[in-house]
Amino acid sequence: LASRDFHPDDTVIDIKGTKIGGGNLVVMGGPCAVESAQQIDEIAQLVKAAGGQVLRGGAFKPRTGPYSFQGVGVEGLIMMAEAGQKHGLLTITEVMTPEYVDICAEYADILQVGTRNMQNFDLLRKLGTCGKPVLLKRGFSSTYDEFLNAAEYILAGGNPNVMLCERGIRTFETYTRNTLDLSAIPVLQGLSHLPVISDPSHGTGRRELVEPMSKASVAAGADGLIIEMHTDPDNSMTGDGVQSLFPDQFAALLKDLEQLAPLV
Ligand code: PEP
Ligand code: MN
Repeated sequence: LASRDFHPDDTVIDIKGTKIGGGNLVVMGGPCAVESAQQIDEIAQLVKAAGGQVLRGGAFKPRTGPYSFQGVGVEGLIMMAEAGQKHGLLTITEVMTPEYVDICAEYADILQVGTRNMQNFDLLRKLGTCGKPVLLKRGFSSTYDEFLNAAEYILAGGNPNVMLCERGIRTFETYTRNTLDLSAIPVLQGLSHLPVISDPSHGTGRRELVEPMSKASVAAGADGLIIEMHTDPDNSMTGDGVQSLFPDQFAALLKDLEQLAPLV
């Protein structure tokens, strides 16, 4: 079902009038994690003012170690839904387990599957019936074939609204957190009709690389970007402050991107 052979035309996902795929550029911005109602409200206002369409933020965080901050949980879903509604933004948040799919789907417009869960098949099956669009991140050691097969689980379960997200893969290089695989963008668009979103934040792990890799992703044909932005990156509650843009950098980037592709 993910293949272009089956579905020659680009899939366009319409979420409350915002169209993702088929030549539109969507920008999702926000913190790695929802930290407080005030934090997500402030950031939502900045995302909207810059021209972004979707507010990102994790309420449940997949941390490498069990003692790290794990997210504020269901409270965070509520805070984010309120901020999105107030500022006229769609929302995207990560869901990590099948048990939490229903509550995440109740509060968010798009459900994100993180890189560590790309092959969590029980989760993918459950997302097939969740009724909300899904952004599926590529596993950091996954081939395109494995990635598309993961998407297939969601599609086969009855949910046609899947976005593929390139978020960097693990290579021998350690200077960057991951290696953003730009080739994935045209390769996946050739093999599949699903929208392809690029994540230059996790793809590089370095703030100064987010701007050039965002532009490179759009030049390569990405249907959208998901970018971390924080009002106080140095004090963010996850380690992702180092890859988060400051609000003025985010706004300047979106201005430049508008020259390359219209923001829908
Ligand atoms: C995130 O988006 O904050 C995140 C944890 O992403 P990934 O699953 O790509 O590491
Ligand atoms: Mn993050």
